Amino acid sequence: MSASGKLASFRLPPLPTVGELIKLYNLRAEKQLSQNFLLDLRLTDKIVRQAGNLRDAHVCEVGPGPGGLTRSILNAGAGDLVVVEKDTRFIPGLKLLSEAAPGRLRIVHGDILTYRMDRGFPVNISKPWEEDPPNLHIIGNLPFSVSTPLIIKWMENIANRTGPFAYGRTRLTLTFQKERLTASTGSKQRSRLSIMAQYLCTVHNCFTIPGRAFVPKPEVDVGVVHFTPLVQPQIQQPFKLVERVVRNIFQFRRKYCHKGVEKLFPAACRIELTQEMMQKADVDPTLRPTELTLPQFRALVNAYAHLCAYEPSLLSYEYREELRMKHLESQGKTPMDTHMEKSTSTPPSPLQPC
Ligand code: SAM
Repeated sequence: MSASGKLASFRLPPLPTVGELIKLYNLRAEKQLSQNFLLDLRLTDKIVRQAGNLRDAHVCEVGPGPGGLTRSILNAGAGDLVVVEKDTRFIPGLKLLSEAAPGRLRIVHGDILTYRMDRGFPVNISKPWEEDPPNLHIIGNLPFSVSTPLIIKWMENIANRTGPFAYGRTRLTLTFQKERLTASTGSKQRSRLSIMAQYLCTVHNCFTIPGRAFVPKPEVDVGVVHFTPLVQPQIQQPFKLVERVVRNIFQFRRKYCHKGVEKLFPAACRIELTQEMMQKADVDPTLRPTELTLPQFRALVNAYAHLCAYEPSLLSYEYREELRMKHLESQGKTPMDTHMEKSTSTPPSPLQPC
């Protein structure tokens, strides 16, 4: 076979267009499942190109829907594509694609939040963490309704080298609300999610997808983002600890950052421990959360870890729980009263002293 013949051998045979399939199966977009379809194959090809060379690659596609992106992944030469789709209505159309690409497309009818990707691919594709990434990619035009929990879950998987990252530094190419993940210091879009992604990955903004490319048109601008997990995370502390500090700081995103830091500590020692943490980290307490750099977040997390090493009970302190207790007290109730009312098996944890 000629080189061009070989190249063409993995391309799909003629099929009904994605638009025709949508009509054929009456696939109206469901707002509840954040469905915004991409029908233009030139655009889905462009998204798939951002992932790099997919010849013979293993790929997991999140939410294939009517299958536009799926076709582009197959046309790019992926050898083993697993698609995870929650909505049953798309399964017949995906089966049609699977028949057109024999042995290359596996369909999982399920929820990406619970799908065990660590069991989905052969173990022998794994690469040591310090080496180049494995020949495994995650690609998806993400459902916005699950994008935040999904990214946090995958970032935790990266930190622990579990799930899709049990195979090594698996790369991701995903659509996302524009700049939500790539926002740099000082940007209005800077958020808990951008810090969590940037401390663990190289995050690259590839291009913006024009709103008119989607059916129906989404309410926000959408960008394509490529992630490669870093060999060494930029903050070397347990994920849950980093997440706790970053979440607290961003809970008052328009206020000075010390306001969020304060809420890491029980009222009895709040002021003094906040001061100690800010001083140890050498961070100006009057900076806003969006103005903090990644090294400043690192310094804050390290300072908090240091305080927790002296006083481990700080780790179980929850500001919201303290508020709840105060509220109960003001109503003349004890935590045990509400416990009896609810008859749950675990009583609320008492506040830890400093
Ligand atoms: N990939 C298709 C495209 O680009 O046209 C559809 C994208 S649409 C934004 C998101 C897709 O994810 C829908 O097909 C929706 O049914 C699916 N979905 C939503 N929540 C899901 C979940 N938890 N697990 C798997 N798929 C999900």
